[in-house]
Amino acid sequence: MENAPRIALLENGLDFIFSSLEYLESDDPRILRYACFNLCQGVELILEARLAGEHWSLLFEHPGGANPDAFNTGDFKAIDFGTCLYRLQNVVDLSLGAHVQVTNRLRRLRRQLEQFEYEGTREEVLSILVKSWDFALEFIESHLRDSARKQSASVEDITEQMAGFEKTIQTRLDAIQGDINYLWGTTRPILKCPRCLQDTFVVRGAPDKPSCLYCNYTAQPEVAAHLWCLEFPGVGSPAETGMSPRQFKCPECDKPTLIQPEYGGDGAPRPGWVCFSCGKTWGGDAIYSCQCCGHLFQRSAGGDIVCPACKRFGIEHR
Ligand SMILES: [Zn+2]
Ligand SMILES: [Zn+2]
Ligand SMILES: [Zn+2]
Repeated sequence: MENAPRIALLENGLDFIFSSLEYLESDDPRILRYACFNLCQGVELILEARLAGEHWSLLFEHPGGANPDAFNTGDFKAIDFGTCLYRLQNVVDLSLGAHVQVTNRLRRLRRQLEQFEYEGTREEVLSILVKSWDFALEFIESHLRDSARKQSASVEDITEQMAGFEKTIQTRLDAIQGDINYLWGTTRPILKCPRCLQDTFVVRGAPDKPSCLYCNYTAQPEVAAHLWCLEFPGVGSPAETGMSPRQFKCPECDKPTLIQPEYGGDGAPRPGWVCFSCGKTWGGDAIYSCQCCGHLFQRSAGGDIVCPACKRFGIEHR
């Protein structure tokens, strides 16, 4: 049965993605949820097709107890999206490369849908959909090409429709390009949006909340900073080191909304550090972790390696 499960999973995956496109005429979040749900389901099945190619037991939550009868009748507890991604990377040893952001977004989206928490705009859903298909298509071509040959019609159909959506997205991006250019001129930081994954998330600083020019996502600084860190673990921030972004206390406004969006990033609009509350930015070296107490402080080039408080304490108790 080597090839049959792989082909069936791929076929079902493509069907789900194709059917997700039907729900995109609407602006109603309840209907857009179905587009997201089918998209997540579809991508998951495509990923599972690759796992099944490795060994069918990898689709079982507990591969040790897997048996062919249960597999053939579908009477078993299957893995979830997160486990599927984990096994692809750690058992099959695949690299998801630059697509980690998309797969991570889908994994979280999947959970939000299950908990009825997700209410995205059409712009956001379109963006996730097109980025997910970019990933799925590349994944199919790299890992499932033989099985995909039998399905070329649906792959082509989906690609054709996605191209239409891509144009819609580009039209919207073109419309906000003037604002983006203006903001770049004012050196306001523009980051990747944790909701739609476009590079259109602007941090203006109080009293303005951070917001996305493309999908209009906006939230209190604490909420947005938390979401940003959840959405981009191990990527974007410290790309070279694979560290996950964290929230720190801002040395300017004292709020826990300072993040390090780009390791070694210099000035805005691609800062090393940015505070989602006050909007202040710093270059990568300008914020330093005190060698004595660990608190972050602003440090000039070649300046002290301990924070002002520790320095004062040291001098007073000498
Ligand atoms: Zn957005
Ligand atoms: Zn601040
Ligand atoms: Zn200190």
